[in-house]
Amino acid sequence: MIKYALQCANGHAFDGWFRSSDAYDRQVRRHLVTCPNCGVTEVEKQPMAPALVKTRRATGTPAQAAHRDTGETGATQAESARPPVEVLRAFRRHVLDNSEDVGPRFADEARKIHHGEADARAIRGEASQEEAIKLHEEGVEFGILPVLPEDHN
Ligand SMILES: [Zn+2]
Repeated sequence: MIKYALQCANGHAFDGWFRSSDAYDRQVRRHLVTCPNCGVTEVEKQPMAPALVKTRRATGTPAQAAHRDTGETGATQAESARPPVEVLRAFRRHVLDNSEDVGPRFADEARKIHHGEADARAIRGEASQEEAIKLHEEGVEFGILPVLPEDHN
């Protein structure tokens, strides 16, 4: 995935995620990229280098994602060192114990909470990579549950 810093014809700055620079070009040409602030489709890249993000191609199983309450500080972890599995397990148990399982409705529910159409609460569920990217584009905050060794059984 490539993240581009974009700017609309009215000067609003926002981020967009694209599969490739070709995909970006295609979507802009077809007016599929709209400014989240004013909705115009005249957008262009801000002059800066795109940030590359490594994504794992989801094979069969959808990514597990958890929505966190906005007030919560959450478990921020250093990207360089992967915390020990006990920590991940404890974090995941905390999420599982303190969130409502909405299953495949995760994306819809997270979006509703984000827009204030549903009670603000911690939810968890499943989202495809595409859904996760879309949520991210819409500014919906969520985290990905860590994968544990026992998940591969
Ligand atoms: Zn705009």
